[in-house]
Amino acid sequence: MTDAANTTMTAQPAEAAAPRKSGGAFNRETVLEVQHYTDRLFRFRTTRDPAFRFINGQFAMIGLEVEGKPLLRAYSMASANYEDDLEFFSIKAPNGPLTSRLQHLKVGDIVLVGRKPTGTLVQSSLLPGKRLYMFSTGTGIAPFSSVIKDPEVYDLYDHLILVHGCRQIAELQYGFDIVKAARENEFFGDVVTEKLIHYPTVTREPFKYQGRATDLIENGKLFADIGQPPLNPAEDRVMICGSPGLLRDLVKMLQDRGFREGSSGDPATYVIEKAFVEQ
Ligand SMILES: Cc1cc2nc3c(=O)[nH]c(=O)nc-3n(C[C@H](O)[C@H](O)[C@H](O)COP(=O)(O)OP(=O)(O)OC[C@H]3O[C@@H](n4cnc5c(N)ncnc54)[C@H](O)[C@@H]3O)c2cc1C
Repeated sequence: MTDAANTTMTAQPAEAAAPRKSGGAFNRETVLEVQHYTDRLFRFRTTRDPAFRFINGQFAMIGLEVEGKPLLRAYSMASANYEDDLEFFSIKAPNGPLTSRLQHLKVGDIVLVGRKPTGTLVQSSLLPGKRLYMFSTGTGIAPFSSVIKDPEVYDLYDHLILVHGCRQIAELQYGFDIVKAARENEFFGDVVTEKLIHYPTVTREPFKYQGRATDLIENGKLFADIGQPPLNPAEDRVMICGSPGLLRDLVKMLQDRGFREGSSGDPATYVIEKAFVEQ
């Protein structure tokens, strides 16, 4: 961790109420809060144009104006679609054109948010099922942060299982925070406590749960730990948001077990989204 780790800045009311200017394909949102978790991860909240609508699990193009031009990247909304603000959970990619700047965000700064959210991690692309598995690595947990805050999703399944894999324990903290907040929600915290199973796992440090999701599925440890039967396309629905490597390996495992990829016009048993693109 760096000096910046675990620091939070929150907007004063006057700043939070600053007028938002909109124009073109983007809304200009004001940063309300920034929290750094590690030297690679941070989250931030911004104002939200009331006309900006999205489905929990979707992403939008967001970014900064650099030398008069928008510099944009895909980002999942980590806030739920009924919240007044927007939240994003971000990497600090070494030498990354956007995040080398974005990591220095301060309360009151302007972030561009594209007006056309999209994405595949939506319930309408899945057939009804008993359990919803959400497999994520790193910042791939961001879209599931909005999904686990969606009371309607809890009506669809007996259990939601959020698997979050990182290298180090400190990188799991955002997941701990969003799950705790969902469990403590005054309106639907009870159903979250009853139905949401959180499975944080690391690959490079000793911890209660260790190993890659693919290994934990293959050797059955995931299912033994959570007290659920092995993955089965008759009952389980799967959403994946992770590194290109995780996606490749997990999709193969799912297909070997009879799972089929769903889309909006043809719902099926799993959906995927890359957490980032390898260059
Ligand atoms: C559909 C989609 C949704 C995304 N949602 C998010 C999100 O919610 N939060 C987020 O931080 N990023 C997300 N990304 C990645 C994001 O679009 C950018 O790549 C990231 O912000 C880095 O931008 P950059 O310009 O600094 O570096 P880039 O030039 O975009 O990336 C440089 C390199 O950094 C690595 N990298 C980039 N992003 C990540 C990451 N998230 N985790 C690990 N390594 C990474 C890759 O190796 C990449 O080649 C998403 C990408 C896609 C395709």
